Amino acid sequence: ILKVEHLDKYYGNWQALHDINFNLKKGEVLTLLGPSGSGKSTLLRTLNGLEDYQKGSIYFHDKKIDPTTKEWQLLRQKIGMVFQSYDLFPNLTVMENILLAPVKVQKRQEDEVRKQAEELLERVGMQDYENSYPRELSGGQKQRVAIVRAMAMNPEILLLDEITASLDPEMVRGVQEIVEHLSNRDHMTMIVVTHQMNFAEKIADEVLFLEDGRILEDTPGKDFFKNPQTARAREFLDSMD
Ligand code: ATP
Ligand code: MG
Repeated sequence: ILKVEHLDKYYGNWQALHDINFNLKKGEVLTLLGPSGSGKSTLLRTLNGLEDYQKGSIYFHDKKIDPTTKEWQLLRQKIGMVFQSYDLFPNLTVMENILLAPVKVQKRQEDEVRKQAEELLERVGMQDYENSYPRELSGGQKQRVAIVRAMAMNPEILLLDEITASLDPEMVRGVQEIVEHLSNRDHMTMIVVTHQMNFAEKIADEVLFLEDGRILEDTPGKDFFKNPQTARAREFLDSMD
């Protein structure tokens, strides 16, 4: 569903990503692991068009993306993203936050989106908070809403960038379980960045291990955690305990 070939990305003169290659299949969960500053967020942002790239190709459904076209602006909506800092609009209620893009950008019927939003909120245990404002919610609750908001766009791929990193420990598990359900029950195609190795091990079909903007290894999840191919990845896993 998403294929990346020989991708290079620069911030100014400095190269942030070097020769990135991978192939994400429908229903698969790809986990990006690597030390801080290795380029994980940069890669996710590049994949959904928040950052440009200077070399290489991205294919979505076997069709090469041309970032300069209107068509890509439409396709991008099929790649949803959730960030570490739940970036909900503070002046809108939970429901208004969720309805905004599907109604305004995707031009869908509000009634239909509202119904879908109610179902999604129920699934994450947030059905009683439709009319709450973000400031009235805990971090874990806000992150559930952020996931629902991304899902309400009906994305074909979901990119999750350390979505539990700013949560209190007791909230982390609940949000992780939602992601696990998205994978196991809905077969959602996802790219997940996380520093939580037990969670990564649970959900990863494939692991990309990055360092200094390069993929050091591309290993099936079932092998990576027991038997990483590189000494660097072994060292990384050991340091994460
Ligand atoms: P972390 O685990 O800490 O989130 P990361 O793997 O997500 O790290 P990135 O945020 O992708 O790392 O950053 C990769 C490199 O690119 C870092 O050296 C960072 O300083 C640099 N970088 C990120 N964003 C920009 C930017 N907008 N302009 C210039 N350099 C940037
Ligand atoms: Mg990051």
